[in-house]
Amino acid sequence: MAEQASNGGPQAAQRNGQAEETERQTILVVDDEAGIRKGCRRVLEAEGYEVLLADTAEQGLDLLRARPTTDLVLADLKMPGLGGLELLAQAKQIAPETVCAVITAYATIETAVEATKRGAYDFLTKPFTPEELLRVVGKALERSRLLRERNRLQVERESRLLEIATEQSRMRTIINSMADGVLVCNADDELVLYNPAALHVLEHLPAGRRVYRLGEVLSSAKLFEMIGDASEGRKRLTQEIQMNGAGQWVLADVSPVVDERSSQFLGTVTVLRDISELKKVEQVKAQFVNMVAHELRSPLAAVDGYLSIMQQGLVTQPEKQTEIIGRSRDRIKALLDLVTDLLDVARMEAGTVLREIEPQAVAGVAGQVLELMEPVAEQRHVALEANIAEDLPRIEADKEEIVRLLNNLVSNAIKYNREGGKVTISAAQDGPYVKLTVSDTGIGISEDGLNRLFSEFFREKRPETAYITGTGLGLSIVKRIVDFYHGRITVDSQPGEGSTFTLWLPCKYEAVEVAA
Ligand code: ADP
Repeated sequence: MAEQASNGGPQAAQRNGQAEETERQTILVVDDEAGIRKGCRRVLEAEGYEVLLADTAEQGLDLLRARPTTDLVLADLKMPGLGGLELLAQAKQIAPETVCAVITAYATIETAVEATKRGAYDFLTKPFTPEELLRVVGKALERSRLLRERNRLQVERESRLLEIATEQSRMRTIINSMADGVLVCNADDELVLYNPAALHVLEHLPAGRRVYRLGEVLSSAKLFEMIGDASEGRKRLTQEIQMNGAGQWVLADVSPVVDERSSQFLGTVTVLRDISELKKVEQVKAQFVNMVAHELRSPLAAVDGYLSIMQQGLVTQPEKQTEIIGRSRDRIKALLDLVTDLLDVARMEAGTVLREIEPQAVAGVAGQVLELMEPVAEQRHVALEANIAEDLPRIEADKEEIVRLLNNLVSNAIKYNREGGKVTISAAQDGPYVKLTVSDTGIGISEDGLNRLFSEFFREKRPETAYITGTGLGLSIVKRIVDFYHGRITVDSQPGEGSTFTLWLPCKYEAVEVAA
């Protein structure tokens, strides 16, 4: 029968140097001799231990299952039923942290050795004195305490390691998914960490190495120099650097890392922001300002010259005066065209164009454009021809915008034509689109020109175009308009023979009644 006795104070814990532990240590005594059980309980409870008693190994194991935190099992080796050795083996499985000691009547070396082989920590031989009991129990409990402490530290260490690993992998994930490049170097100028975004500044990374010499793998000498300066001067440096690839720019920010406590220099952290797009915009802006200034300057200078001649009274003949005023007006007209184009581009860019979208008849719009262009064509001795299919479906668009689009194409076809040349506008239905073509017999466009034709400010620099004025914005406006209406534009051209611009604009959707 299993008996439980609970009594005692904190003496045992204090004696074991664990005054801080408030829980009493528990000892399970398993012996078939009632006298031994009682004796043990008396002595051990007097020391403040909690004592559990069992008279068979089976009962002892049941008690251990119920209380696996038991600190010590004192078991008799020779008991009816399950023996002490078997109890030892099973106790190890039920409560691996519990220390076991055995009580044996046969004080032979073999029995003791066998018991220790099976996991017993110590043994007591019957008969034993209270002092002998307390000595073995004290030693075993100390062992139990150390065992538990060791296990606790191991669990703590493992969870700490896991924490560090998780933290490292989290940091790694963050660094790897950053859009900015990161390079971490140690004090010996070795690259110890980099993320994928920094790969564009690295080259020849030998496979299988974890650490690289910075000088061997950095593709920019300027960046290398900058990292060197920051480590030598122990100061943070920021600089825009042009990389080896054309048009590739990075904003590099190099910070030295110094250990706060020891003031020891540990290395550098470099953050690289790709500013290529920003630089491109800056470049376009500078190009834009340059172009505008240039385009404004020459007509203004010409008008200023004409006005000065008139002011000084150098031109007296009325016909001459009329001619000069005419020339001034032409120059001012060119300026107005430029300003209109610039405003259009700015409005389209900002998305603030006001459109009145209505069904438009292409024949009407094309006719209007041809009428508008007739005087210019005549002046250049260029013939205008129209070839518009009848019954064309309407297109859904803002009329002014379609006029502007065709105007640009036809005006180019006249401007870049030859004396006595021809311009033809054709329109026909092509599936759900109206297909419009503007072809000319002019100077044509080079292959390089064809690739850049729709970019802002692009103008072909050829001897034939030297005296033709323009802004380089017309076709970029055409492209924006076509894109807005979900259309498409293509160009075919042969230098010296002429060009054909073809564009497709979606027809207005007409609901069709389907017969049931
Ligand atoms: P602009 O005519 O004001 O210079 P565009 O954007 O209309 O600007 O045209 C860009 C460039 O494309 C022109 O400068 C010219 O070199 C070329 N180009 C456009 N249309 C034609 C054409 N029909 N024939 C030959 N070259 C053309």
